[in-house]
Amino acid sequence: IAPVITIDGPSGAGKGTLCKAMAESLQWHLLDSGAIYRVLALAALHHQVDIESEEALVPMAAHLDVRFLSVEGEMQVILEGEDVTGEIRTQEVSNTASRVAAFPRVREALLRRQRAFREEPGLIADGRDMGTVVFPDAPVKIFLDASSEERAHRRMLQLQEKGFNVNFDRLLSEIKERDDRDRNRAIAPLVPAADALVLDSTSMSIEQVIEKALDYARH
Ligand code: C5P
Repeated sequence: IAPVITIDGPSGAGKGTLCKAMAESLQWHLLDSGAIYRVLALAALHHQVDIESEEALVPMAAHLDVRFLSVEGEMQVILEGEDVTGEIRTQEVSNTASRVAAFPRVREALLRRQRAFREEPGLIADGRDMGTVVFPDAPVKIFLDASSEERAHRRMLQLQEKGFNVNFDRLLSEIKERDDRDRNRAIAPLVPAADALVLDSTSMSIEQVIEKALDYARH
């Protein structure tokens, strides 16, 4: 059975960048589990499925027609044959994803799909419950955190780089709202696994985070 390194934490802590760097450095596979919840949210929006209805969402989650391609090192997301790589990153999809992710049977329906990414030579798994629920036996677990102000600030810079004009306070309140929902849900709440290394990246550069994580993975 292939080894797994789990990287969990709240949105905007730098998990995406860290996971990509680790997967490249180790030449391992990468699972962006958040993208799966995002695709489910988008599919529900497209098909006008009631996002408050667990009943309606479960079969959708079970039969989700999604493919993840790697194109020149970048992940491309294909939903029902259509490239939705950009569309799954909107604020509306972010919020919808964290709502549909709160349903136990929706999470259950997505478990096998996530575990299927575990292949030789190894997997870097990015999410909220990778170390606690999906891969509890992973030998290396990291929980990457940062203050909500710092995370909102990073997000603002990212968006500004793309030419978007954004309001910091609004970003901060959206981040807090999504985190509260992820932390306080009844199933698979966002908490570090008991055996995870907790890294607070608030005053670290991304280079320092990557170095620390790679050191820890090799220990
Ligand atoms: O990581 P990302 O921001 O793409 O995740 C979107 C949403 O999907 C999160 O806010 C969370 O509610 C949900 N999610 C989850 N479990 C995971 C990954 C993401 O519940 N393993």
